[in-house]
Amino acid sequence: MLETGKRNDVAKQLIAGNWKLNLTVAEATGLAQSLATESEGLLHRCDLLVAPGFLTLEAVRSAVLGTGINVAAQNGYHEPKGAFTGEVSFAQLCDLGIQWVILGHSERRAVFGETDEVLAHKLKGALGCGMHPIFCVGESLEQRESGAASSVVTAQLAAALSGLTPDSAKNLVIAYEPVWAIGTGLTASPAQAAEMHALIREELSKRWGQETGQSVRLLYGGSVKAANAAELLGQANVDGVLVGGASLQAAEFLAIAAASCETR
Ligand code: PEP
Repeated sequence: MLETGKRNDVAKQLIAGNWKLNLTVAEATGLAQSLATESEGLLHRCDLLVAPGFLTLEAVRSAVLGTGINVAAQNGYHEPKGAFTGEVSFAQLCDLGIQWVILGHSERRAVFGETDEVLAHKLKGALGCGMHPIFCVGESLEQRESGAASSVVTAQLAAALSGLTPDSAKNLVIAYEPVWAIGTGLTASPAQAAEMHALIREELSKRWGQETGQSVRLLYGGSVKAANAAELLGQANVDGVLVGGASLQAAEFLAIAAASCETR
């Protein structure tokens, strides 16, 4: 096993909120404004990011401008332009000033049929544009119960990362999100999270060398809330969290961020 100890010197923890298909323009703007005004004391100790829907990206970007809070899209398309009705390209997102994107979320995989192959194209496209992708991997309950969790995550990683150069690592964030813990109220135990994060770290280090492998931020996602954040964030190789439901309320999301800061 390669080195998997805590890497407190590497980067601040990243607390990312995935707003999914929620919030009107007014609601998203209000939430962003609350985060902008109430996060000031936290941002020197952790990084904050929110991922609103496409239609509210610009309003949210304007609301947090100058605060240091990052804004991500929840999806994107690798072709820059052309006959791809309904898609939004990474190039268009960058044009809007959006430099982060969530890719490979289990809802994209399961509900919209995004395959490992499609996601590999998307990841390459986002990195090629200079974006910072948060690439999600994770096993279903059935896969965990059959003992296949590690092999599923390893295969998802291999499919996504093959063909990428170590240089990609500087913009890449990986989120381990066990599918059975997303939106269910079930959370991976701190030990389960630590075990999978160590495995992901090892895979990255095997692929790109120890130093580069250690530099990639690894997030945990799956029913994270203020009450369980500190324990999860205190695990080795957990460099932040990707939060769904609990990111829709400013106070709860900021309490998660405060928990992250306390672990450092
Ligand atoms: C997510 O959507 O990435 C997620 C982790 O959702 P939740 O926190 O609601 O489980």
